[in-house]
Amino acid sequence: MDNRLTILKLSEKAEAYAKEVERETEYIVQIDDWQGNGANVTLDPDCKYILVKINEEEFKKESEGEIDFTIAHELTHGFLSLKKKYCQINCMRCGSEEKEAIFFLQTMIEDPVVDKTIYKKSINHLMLSILMILRKILGLYVI
Ligand SMILES: [Zn+2]
Repeated sequence: MDNRLTILKLSEKAEAYAKEVERETEYIVQIDDWQGNGANVTLDPDCKYILVKINEEEFKKESEGEIDFTIAHELTHGFLSLKKKYCQINCMRCGSEEKEAIFFLQTMIEDPVVDKTIYKKSINHLMLSILMILRKILGLYVI
C-alpha cells in the first residue's frame, strides 16, 4: 500500500477508502503519478486493477482534504463502473473534439452520482466510527 504514490503520501482516510473500494470490487487500487492535467481513472479488467492517475506536482499544492476528495472521486468512478455497471466509454475512431465532448457528457451524468456515493460512504464510515466509540465507552462501564 505504501507504493501507491511516489511523492504524495495517502492519508489514513484515503487509504481506508481505497481499501473499501478494493474489498467491494475485488480490484487492486493503484495510484500513480502522471504529467497530464488533474486526475483520471482507468480500469484493467485483465489484471483487476483500478488505476488512478494523479498529477502529483499539481496536487501537492492542494490541501490533504482536497487530495483525498480527488482520489475518492476517481476511485468512485471505478466503483460505479465495476459494481453498479456504469458504462466505460471507449472512443473508437473519434477526433479530439468528439473525445472531449464524450468526456464532458459522461462527467455531467456521472459526477453527481459519484459525489452522492462518496457522501453515503462517508456517512456510513462516520456511523461505524461512532459505534466503535460507543462500544469502547460501554465496554468501560461493563468492566
Ligand atoms: Zn468525475
